[in-house]
Amino acid sequence: MKIAIIGGGLVGCLVALELAERGQSVVLLEQEASLISRASANNEGKLHLGYVYGADPSFETAQRLILDALVFRLILERWITPETFERCLSAAFNYIVPLQSRLPLDAIQAHFARVDAFCHEQECRLNLRYLGQKAQFEPRAPEKCRETGATWLSTPERGIWAKGVARAVAACVTQHPKIEVRYGVSVHNATSSKGQWRIQCDRGQPGGDGPYDAVINAAWSGRRTIDRASGFASAEPWYARFKYGVLLRDARAVLGQAMPSNTTATSGAFGDSVYYPDVDVLYCSWYPVGMCFASRDESLNAADPTPKQARRMIHDTYAGYASIDPAYSALSQPHVCDKAELMGDYIVARGHSDIVDPHSILHERRGHGPKELAPGYFSVDTGKYTSAPRCAVETVDALLAKERACLVS
Ligand SMILES: Cc1cc2nc3c(=O)[nH]c(=O)nc-3n(C[C@H](O)[C@H](O)[C@H](O)COP(=O)(O)OP(=O)(O)OC[C@H]3O[C@@H](n4cnc5c(N)ncnc54)[C@H](O)[C@@H]3O)c2cc1C
Repeated sequence: MKIAIIGGGLVGCLVALELAERGQSVVLLEQEASLISRASANNEGKLHLGYVYGADPSFETAQRLILDALVFRLILERWITPETFERCLSAAFNYIVPLQSRLPLDAIQAHFARVDAFCHEQECRLNLRYLGQKAQFEPRAPEKCRETGATWLSTPERGIWAKGVARAVAACVTQHPKIEVRYGVSVHNATSSKGQWRIQCDRGQPGGDGPYDAVINAAWSGRRTIDRASGFASAEPWYARFKYGVLLRDARAVLGQAMPSNTTATSGAFGDSVYYPDVDVLYCSWYPVGMCFASRDESLNAADPTPKQARRMIHDTYAGYASIDPAYSALSQPHVCDKAELMGDYIVARGHSDIVDPHSILHERRGHGPKELAPGYFSVDTGKYTSAPRCAVETVDALLAKERACLVS
């Protein structure tokens, strides 16, 4: 088969590699000038086990993310070496439960215990270890922070330096003889005739062409617009947010021994902080400052996420984070802010209101993966970075299972 993939993010690249390894010819269409340069390179890289999703009472978000996270390393290591993978990993995260948490501490502890039990059960059932490491899934003794009154809980959850993964995966894609990458191609829609697909680009530009036997839409923030223009509008409410975090490179030289530990605050609109030792980068996000644009208009027509006052956002992010982690107090000083930079992209998910709304369906991150919207047209909702490898394999399995069924009949 000849297959077009729209979007060269992590999911599009992993789908391309998977298909190519299974003998298919792939054309990868990417609007940017390089692969994996958008959301999959501009996120904090937490490999979620669902601890932060305590506001989903069904527990299905945690269940889904745990299964996604357990196969993350297994799938990625088909394309990147164990050494690269290890070098990109962070140490484990502590969770901070501030006094203003939307969920009370006992509810969070009960949720954590459920996550631990499910992780342990699934590790045994699948004979897999989270990130290939022996993690401690057991109740943790809470610690109280004297300055803030918040409670700290340790977890085995870790992050991965997404730009390191991006570089390694992109190199595999560009070197693969069965994958043709076309850069600077902004797809508008796909049309089919007699079982073959053609692709039209924005403003009638060349580059999409065809015919293709199948099309896989992995365009993340552009995905639903392309689906709609291809005749597959969906009534599902959809919420797009542009979130910035702050990146501090050469962090050891700037902070010395005062490096903060990896933390996530729950439950509410707080933030995360993670240090990647091998690249010496400290990442920090503070939701009230970094979440600079939100819209229910999936075309993102009104979007202008360019930071108006980057220096101010960096300062306010560090100052905000210091309200939950006192180790950050030192970071809002001018000599640190001057060296830091902003990094961000769109987060898109099923939803109609922001996470400050306790009834927001953004608290539920499940149901992602591929959907075949017409014979040979697959639209892939990645859900989370954590879920990208599993989504890619599920997409290829779905496409090639159909192909096999056709051959048999
Ligand atoms: C700030 C931030 C923090 C996050 N933190 C985490 C986290 O800690 N853990 C976690 O699990 N997830 C996190 N996420 C979510 C995660 O980044 C995404 O779920 C994941 O990266 C999506 O991967 P993707 O390949 O689908 O999208 P992308 O990496 O965005 O790839 C989509 C590609 O499609 C291309 N494209 C779009 N439209 C078109 C078009 N019309 N034509 C051609 N190409 C097109 C884009 O240029 C892009 O290269 C975060 C996201 C953000 C933005």
